[in-house]
Amino acid sequence: MKRSFYDLNYSDLDAVIKQNNLNPSVAAVLFNWHYKKKENTQCRDNISKSSLDFFEQHFDFSLPEIDTVQESKKDRTVKFLFKLKDNHKIETVLIPFNNKYSICLSSQVGCAMNCSFCFTGEQGLKRNLATSEIIGQFLKAWRWLATNRPGEERILNVVFMGQGEPLHNFDAVKKACEIFLSQHGTSVGVQKITVSTAGYVPGLKRWSQEIPGVNLALSLHSPFAEKRNELIPINRKYPLDEVLSYIDKIPLNKKQFITYEYILIKDFNDSPDDAKKLGMLLTGKSAYINLIPFNEFPGARYERPESDKVEQFKAILDTFRIPTLTRGVKGDDVLAACGQLNSRNEITIKTN
Ligand code: SAH
Repeated sequence: MKRSFYDLNYSDLDAVIKQNNLNPSVAAVLFNWHYKKKENTQCRDNISKSSLDFFEQHFDFSLPEIDTVQESKKDRTVKFLFKLKDNHKIETVLIPFNNKYSICLSSQVGCAMNCSFCFTGEQGLKRNLATSEIIGQFLKAWRWLATNRPGEERILNVVFMGQGEPLHNFDAVKKACEIFLSQHGTSVGVQKITVSTAGYVPGLKRWSQEIPGVNLALSLHSPFAEKRNELIPINRKYPLDEVLSYIDKIPLNKKQFITYEYILIKDFNDSPDDAKKLGMLLTGKSAYINLIPFNEFPGARYERPESDKVEQFKAILDTFRIPTLTRGVKGDDVLAACGQLNSRNEITIKTN
């Protein structure tokens, strides 16, 4: 099987070119064509026939196929179901803001974390995504916008908050970030990429050395060990204290924060005591809290709190002077909101 072109970061591509005595300028030309211009045809920029032939012969330029697209009537969120080469399926979401978009990428088929509040967790982990399948979600979504919402193909933020635990697929996610950030690549700015983790310590240990500058978000969800164990089972293996000790070591520039995500679940973690304990835990850190009222999905065992409960929780955090934003719900009419991604139907399709 041919290697995917989209699995190469810029230095991998450079190495291939050197090893095969091709013109060194080819790396920039190809990156520019496929990532900056986001063309899906054979490169027609300044490149020799022999170099083109070499890449055609040795590399695969195909990307994941779009299987179905669902558009929210409420807020124009777009959810893509992608079909991969081995028929596995993953979901990707484009979230609109002022005619620009954030893209929520998946990093795995399913997820091994098995969080009790997350629809994806019910699928279990099928496999890791390759870098090409991560970058492919971005390129295909961009092209979909260019065709279906011309003039709106502006994806300014990349968040790894789709299916999967990105730090559990560190190498592929890291390489995807490198491609996003390459000056010859998509030119998504370093401060525009956020990787969200359930607190997977082996990945956090590598984080600051290997993906400097990219924003990190931690799914915190409860400052109390017992509750966090129930919500996020890997908390038993990697307890919050240990997770925070690694996160505290990440060097941040002046404008940078760590985002702490906190799902608010009715009568579970939405009391004033929870808010105070959370405030005490995070006070003094470069923290930014994202409150996410629980999004319901078929069969969910939790409920979303009333909005006055959410406001009360936020008001307590405000007394700690920690910037807190309540995440608005987008795309829930097509099950595209946080925690609602589940491509399990793929299994039925596969066995039929
Ligand atoms: N595995 C990573 C990234 C995927 S989840 C992580 O755990 O962070 C992305 C965000 O959606 C996380 O903050 C997650 O906790 C949140 N989320 C998951 N299920 C949710 C639900 N049902 N309602 C609201 N947010 C949810």
